[in-house]
Amino acid sequence: MSSTPTPEVTRPAFHQAAAASASASAASAPGAPAQARSRRPLWLGLVVAVFALVPLLAGNFTVSLLNDIGIGALVALGLVLLTGIGGATSFGQAAFVGIAAYATAWLSTTQGLSPWIGLAFALLLTGLSALAIGLLTLRLGGHFLPLSTIAWGLSIAMLFGNVDALGRHTGLSNIPPLTIGGLSLADPRAIYYLIWAVVGLACLFSHNLLQSRPGRAIRSLRGGSILLASVGADAYRVRLTLFVTAALLAGLAGWLYAHMNRFVSPSPFDVRASIEYLLMAVAGGLGNLAGALVGSALVLILKNGLQDVLPMLTQRAGQLEAVAFATLFILLLHFARGGLMGFVRRFTRKRAAALPPRELSTPVAPLPHRKLPEHGTPILSVTGAVKRFGGLVAVNDVSFEVKAGEIMGLIGPNGAGKSTMFNLLTCTLPMTAGQVRFLGHDIAGMPQRKVARLGLARTFQHVKLRPHMTLLDNVALGAHSRTTSGVLKAGFRLDRAEERQILQEAQRQLERIGLGERAHELAGSLPLGTQRILEIARALAADPVLLVLDEPAAGLRRKEKMALGALLRKLREEGVTILIVEHDMDFVMKLVDRLVVMNFGSKLVEGVPSAVRADERVQAAYLGSVV
Ligand code: ADP
Ligand code: MG
Repeated sequence: MSSTPTPEVTRPAFHQAAAASASASAASAPGAPAQARSRRPLWLGLVVAVFALVPLLAGNFTVSLLNDIGIGALVALGLVLLTGIGGATSFGQAAFVGIAAYATAWLSTTQGLSPWIGLAFALLLTGLSALAIGLLTLRLGGHFLPLSTIAWGLSIAMLFGNVDALGRHTGLSNIPPLTIGGLSLADPRAIYYLIWAVVGLACLFSHNLLQSRPGRAIRSLRGGSILLASVGADAYRVRLTLFVTAALLAGLAGWLYAHMNRFVSPSPFDVRASIEYLLMAVAGGLGNLAGALVGSALVLILKNGLQDVLPMLTQRAGQLEAVAFATLFILLLHFARGGLMGFVRRFTRKRAAALPPRELSTPVAPLPHRKLPEHGTPILSVTGAVKRFGGLVAVNDVSFEVKAGEIMGLIGPNGAGKSTMFNLLTCTLPMTAGQVRFLGHDIAGMPQRKVARLGLARTFQHVKLRPHMTLLDNVALGAHSRTTSGVLKAGFRLDRAEERQILQEAQRQLERIGLGERAHELAGSLPLGTQRILEIARALAADPVLLVLDEPAAGLRRKEKMALGALLRKLREEGVTILIVEHDMDFVMKLVDRLVVMNFGSKLVEGVPSAVRADERVQAAYLGSVV
């Protein structure tokens, strides 16, 4: 769905922290973040207490409604993660609810097994279905992915209505209620506690997930697969994992649904239901986990209200309800893309302070470093590189070599093919012909993420950062390939030791480039020139052997350029090899050890700066480009 609102995902906590004002307030009141954090358990305790008391005070209707809201919130939570944060719209989420509901219903009625075995079976079946569907569809780009979700959403719902063992359109009834240690949860007031405990745990899991290594990859999905590949991550795998996670949340909801209602039939799992879940996520706020709860409440309360009011006005209440929801959808997309939580945040943003993650407070051993190659050994050699874009030859038979510990410049007039050359040697683009060897590996044709994992880190001429993530998180993403924690570890917070290492590494790199103080601001708040420098920190977090920088000094002021030059020299001293495209001649000539000059896709000359400067062909090429 192209009209999916772009949410603002920063640190997607329940109370989102706007990082922009954070470092200022943290600096002026060092105790403030700690205070805010110490208030957190209090709030949480209060919320839990209110939820625990509700069934004792509220009527049957309210409790049942809250049960429905909890179940809806679980599905919507998956959609906030998948659609809101991961950027993949699903119109078929109700099908996963259905798979789980039917799985447990079938097992506990026809096979007479315990609903708890039903839970394992339901999650297994939902997970496997999501995996199969994901493998088939998640490579589809643009509008095709959402369209495919409609296709499988429709067919799975149709399947429920046509399988004899599943009771066809009459469904399955007499599903046993859940029991915990002999205690029956048949009463809505009893299952209420289970539902909301599951919702609470699912929120906590998702919250933890987002503040982690896999979470940063998920939050970067909208930045495109090239960004992820440049840090050694596989966007397809990240999306697949996210898709399965969201489906499992829907599966949990389906299992609860089946044993709460004790009856399943096809219609609550059709595409119309899927759209309702999507509406919940949009209404609550796609960029915010709490949006799932708020959205589910909003939609279900409204639905109940409409079901009460509409029959008084017309005999076609059912159809009118659909119209009312469609109107709500359109209004939301026009006026409140951030949903209700986005609206609330507009008012709380100024007061909120970004909390520097706890992981920064206790120092830990740094992440292990790569052994850098001996100074002067050739690490990268490009031989006869050719890239054609249709009839245009952007890179034409270019060969050169980069040696360990040097800064090599690649210069040439606009359109000479420099960026394309960088894309070829980082395997961001496939070569038409030629060879690239990096650290003894033949890398031409290798996936970009594998090349990145070998120790080739890059920045982009057109900055690829996540503007709604903090500087710290953007840089931490760079350490992706040096670490291993996955979704389960992250969700259950078993990744904290590694997370500490990652965040402290990111903080170190930020300090290295002089942005340490602004670690908790949003990357999007930086001027473009500084964003380029931030990309260097992200590349450094990967502990690279070779750093490939595409116009890092563009947009910097003189003093900033000098600082950048000093940083690059320091990196060279530390043994990092650098390959740089830069337009500022003065800057390049003073910085690099050797230069390759390109013009019209071909290599013009190669040599030390003084020789290149004196070369007539270079002067002609540059004059030619000016005239
Ligand atoms: P430079 O970085 O030296 O300014 P580029 O490598 O960006 O130059 O571009 C070299 C040539 O290739 C230009 O003529 C540009 O228009 C063309 N080009 C670059 N990328 C593409 C692409 N993806 N498709 C078609 N043409 C491209
Ligand atoms: Mg370029």
